[in-house]
Amino acid sequence: MRPGFKGEVVVVGGGLAGASAACILAEASRPVLVIERDATAREKVCGEFLSIEAQTYLTYLGIGLDALGASRISRLRLVRKSNRIEVGLPFVARGLSRRVLDEALLRKAEACGSRILRGLAVRSISTDHTHIAIDMGPRGSFAADSVFLATGKHDVRGEKRPTADAMNDLIGFKMHYRLAPRERQTLDGAVEVILFRGGYAGLQLVEQGIANLCLAVSRQSFERVGKSWGSLLDSIVDECPHLGGRLLGAQPLFERPLSIFQIPYGFLHASDRQEPQGLFRLGDQVGVIPSFTGEGMSIALHSGCLAASIFLDHGRAASIFHQRVKSDIRRSIRLATALNQTVRHAAGQQVVFHLSRLWPAAMRHVATLTRVREEAMNSVLFAP
Ligand SMILES: Cc1cc2nc3c(=O)[nH]c(=O)nc-3n(C[C@H](O)[C@H](O)[C@H](O)COP(=O)(O)OP(=O)(O)OC[C@H]3O[C@@H](n4cnc5c(N)ncnc54)[C@H](O)[C@@H]3O)c2cc1C
Repeated sequence: MRPGFKGEVVVVGGGLAGASAACILAEASRPVLVIERDATAREKVCGEFLSIEAQTYLTYLGIGLDALGASRISRLRLVRKSNRIEVGLPFVARGLSRRVLDEALLRKAEACGSRILRGLAVRSISTDHTHIAIDMGPRGSFAADSVFLATGKHDVRGEKRPTADAMNDLIGFKMHYRLAPRERQTLDGAVEVILFRGGYAGLQLVEQGIANLCLAVSRQSFERVGKSWGSLLDSIVDECPHLGGRLLGAQPLFERPLSIFQIPYGFLHASDRQEPQGLFRLGDQVGVIPSFTGEGMSIALHSGCLAASIFLDHGRAASIFHQRVKSDIRRSIRLATALNQTVRHAAGQQVVFHLSRLWPAAMRHVATLTRVREEAMNSVLFAP
């Protein structure tokens, strides 16, 4: 397949942010090329909790979560040591594996008319005032007028995110399990957030009754407990027997857990007048919201849809998009980062746990403030 041609928008990365932008551009009959590094669908480290905002965007893009078998989640169980609190969620969340979700969205982008180039990674990007050069290593390089950079946590040479100020000492892990029938039944309908020394975990069902255990732990705590998945799980179970019960008789579905390091939580792209026009940063490339205290998938979908709609109205004016998206997500990222810092420490965990018990409504309100605002979404969903 030819790489890009003149006038074609090049989307680098076919995750949620890139694929959502491609759907909208292709629907509007714009030529779009998506370059996705993975040759086939694969799992990604993620809690796989779809908030109402993410669901709204997915419906808007024509993705049917029922048809994909997404689970339904209406309660939050907060677990710390031997204590538990259960509260209703203000919406019905859904659980779906990233392997299924990302593939469905990428296929949708293709069905809308995007060209998809899979199994190829962009090596580097360089910009001048008129063009953006894309280097694909042995597959050659080519110039594009407009590029949507949506490579998630992976930086591309030439366009690395300046993440020195972000908090990046957390390690993320994900493992899917087939739980024992009784445990699966008790988990059904809830997301369990487990606070433990140095981190927190989320446990919930995704499609086909599979349970996803996803956790974030500080590097220091991981090293302290022995630097292996087995020793980490043992130490969490010692501290929180609830998780031990859930995993009793569970069958792990991956050979080893997926992991991710140096996640720059709190990063927000600082746009300025000098930045090159035509280069739009989406998803985790524009802002990284801490997991469990915020929802990166809704930011990925919002930024993808917003970038495409601004491109359709204003062409290559990336700075208009970056300023808009920054004002849409800044508050959520700041608040989620502060919350994240709090729940990483024993004293902070205790405070959050007690406040959740005493004022569940207040905690629900704080959680609402970490989500993408309705007005910001409406400006995309109901754009003239
Ligand atoms: C531990 C953890 C738990 C999380 N839990 C949740 C949760 O429960 N709910 C939620 O809403 N969010 C959650 N998130 C956040 C969410 O996973 C991300 O914010 C979201 O995936 C970002 O989407 P994206 O499209 O920007 O990037 P990605 O989904 O990472 O997609 C990027 C794509 O680009 C491709 N790519 C990368 N480099 C190249 C290259 N050089 N050339 C071509 N292609 C390339 C990749 O293969 C990938 O498909 C969590 C994150 C972490 C770390």
